[in-house]
Amino acid sequence: MSKSAIKDTMDALVKELNQHNYNYYVLATPTISDYEFDQKLETLAKLEKENPEFADPDSPTLKVGGEITKNFITVNHKWPMLSLGNTYNEQDLLDFDERIRKSIGDNFEYVCELKFDGLSISLTYEQHKLVRAVTRGDGKKGDDVTNNVKTIRSIPHQLKTMEAPEIFEIRGEILMHLAAFNRLNKEREELGEISYANPRNFASGTIKMQDSNEVAKRPLDCFLYAMNTDKTHFKTHWESLQILKTWGFHVSEHTILAPSITEVFAFIKYWELERFKLSYAIDGIVLKVNSYAQQQELGITAKSPRWAISYKYKAQEVETILEKVTYQVGRTGAVTPVANLKPVLLAGTTVKRATLHNANEIERLDLHLGDSVFVEKGGEIIPKIINVNLEKRKLGAVKVIYPVICPECDTQLLRKEGEVAFYCPNDEGCPPQIVGKIQHFIGRKAMNIDGLGDETIEAFYQKGLIRHISDLYTLKDKAEELKTIARFGERSIENMLKGIEFSKQMPFEKVLFGLGIRYVGETVAKKLAFAIKNIDRLMAASLEDLVAIDEIGQRIAESIQEYFNKPAHLLQIELLKAHNLQFEAKEIEITLQSEKLSGKTFVISGVFEKFSREELKELIESNGGKILSSISAKLSYLVAGDNMGPSKLEKAQKLNVPLISEDDLLEMLK
Ligand code: AMP
Ligand code: ZN
Repeated sequence: MSKSAIKDTMDALVKELNQHNYNYYVLATPTISDYEFDQKLETLAKLEKENPEFADPDSPTLKVGGEITKNFITVNHKWPMLSLGNTYNEQDLLDFDERIRKSIGDNFEYVCELKFDGLSISLTYEQHKLVRAVTRGDGKKGDDVTNNVKTIRSIPHQLKTMEAPEIFEIRGEILMHLAAFNRLNKEREELGEISYANPRNFASGTIKMQDSNEVAKRPLDCFLYAMNTDKTHFKTHWESLQILKTWGFHVSEHTILAPSITEVFAFIKYWELERFKLSYAIDGIVLKVNSYAQQQELGITAKSPRWAISYKYKAQEVETILEKVTYQVGRTGAVTPVANLKPVLLAGTTVKRATLHNANEIERLDLHLGDSVFVEKGGEIIPKIINVNLEKRKLGAVKVIYPVICPECDTQLLRKEGEVAFYCPNDEGCPPQIVGKIQHFIGRKAMNIDGLGDETIEAFYQKGLIRHISDLYTLKDKAEELKTIARFGERSIENMLKGIEFSKQMPFEKVLFGLGIRYVGETVAKKLAFAIKNIDRLMAASLEDLVAIDEIGQRIAESIQEYFNKPAHLLQIELLKAHNLQFEAKEIEITLQSEKLSGKTFVISGVFEKFSREELKELIESNGGKILSSISAKLSYLVAGDNMGPSKLEKAQKLNVPLISEDDLLEMLK
């Protein structure tokens, strides 16, 4: 291939793969298989390695978050993971019932379950311990994602029973609750990252990440609904579900035993609208013949069992008019379009707005003002526009054009390479950004200032009392003006001022997070504070210095440098320093080599903030301590981080093993 042909091939691959990513993550309608995607991605990565001069900064091989590189060991399923026959109509269910009757007679029962909209997982337990978690894959073999699945709190690592078989498999559905989905998606939008189309994609994207620490930060749940063993352990499916609960598995409470198809229909009818009150998404119900012997008799087809079927709910969809599109500017300047609709009843609630995600989505829908649009409520809380009824488009309708300037401050919008969201770069002069940044600073995870809320910040800004974070610390000199704010009494003012004063003690990592530097989230701020120690060194750090820190990548490093290149930011830091905020990490003096821990044993469990588990292990061993793999009565300490398995915790408590944090450990080494 000639050089220019290579470049063309690479460019085409970048474009194509980025489109596939968009189809997959944003639209939730992939047009190629994971396998084909991986093949193409590999080809591109290889070409980039051989021809680095042509590598595109927007290349999907560079995407962060590990969502795209999939590098897991493939494992064969002992029992194939079949799909379920499915239907959208009641006649099919009657036919299904009829077929079963013909085959095994009238004497049988059904179990009705919710059909959780997540990704299925196969868990293998040996000697009551979770040893393997594998995705469905193609049904015959899937990806070994054990380490990621171990971060899910509702999945026991160790069973609470001795009666379970030595080896068995249990299946369930991993999902993300709607509240977590909305919160995390909003965070992603604010960071200019792609937001996920639905909780299912978010959950499956998460389970396929390489970095288990990252997985641990995203709350996932898992409902278990089937068990396989070599020997029959139970007589009926219903019985197995009841017992699985007592072994510590999360089994849905919304499961019923149905004596006949009539009760099944009632169950379907009940959940048709009731499902929108659940904290997670379901897309239908599953019907299973209860008796295992009868299941055996009915058998399976090549694709699915003959003893089960799913009934899927049609998406709740209505047609309404797009009245206008408004644009919200977030704290980090991301400009998100929102469709304003003629109010309409959908799935039991009145809908006035729908998400449009970003500029690409407006293009994809080719939206015109006054369009009649189809709105769907799927697994998300906020509904979305599926498509436009072109037949009803009025002649001369005006096309919706995503703005080129900020709707709040008229600054020209920018789009970073490799990102989908446009953002307003005027962070010092754009009202929602100013207010948003101060709100972020006082927030619970940052400075956690008592007596001060988002509305108060908004009111202070409107009154011209604050424009910058540092202005918070001058409020005490503005007593008279404060009194003019409605519903703000003397007591509240006093409380607030106390809270503000108190925040000067907040540790450096909180201040750093509070500054709201793009991509510097809570964990990153902690890592930075711990590794770099103070703000002056952070400002002076080179790109190389920054990326050398655990978990700090190129994108974060660049963003930090960009932040400190702005004189307005430097001025803020000078002012905050003058108000005596903490810009220095509390020195942790630890001995790196000693015999301080000799004779003591440790088990490390969970995810930690300051150290990786490997680092903790090294720290303990180089100070004479010994690492053990399991908890016993003789264990000296359990070093416990976040997301520790509940069974470990329970065992430690039962055996009276002291639990210590990483800080306690550091204390021992002082
Ligand atoms: P389908 O993907 O439409 O063939 O449906 C089969 C999938 O439904 C299974 O692979 C599971 O991931 C999922 N599913 C969700 N809830 C249940 C349930 N209660 N019982 C069985 N499968 C379920
Ligand atoms: Zn702006």
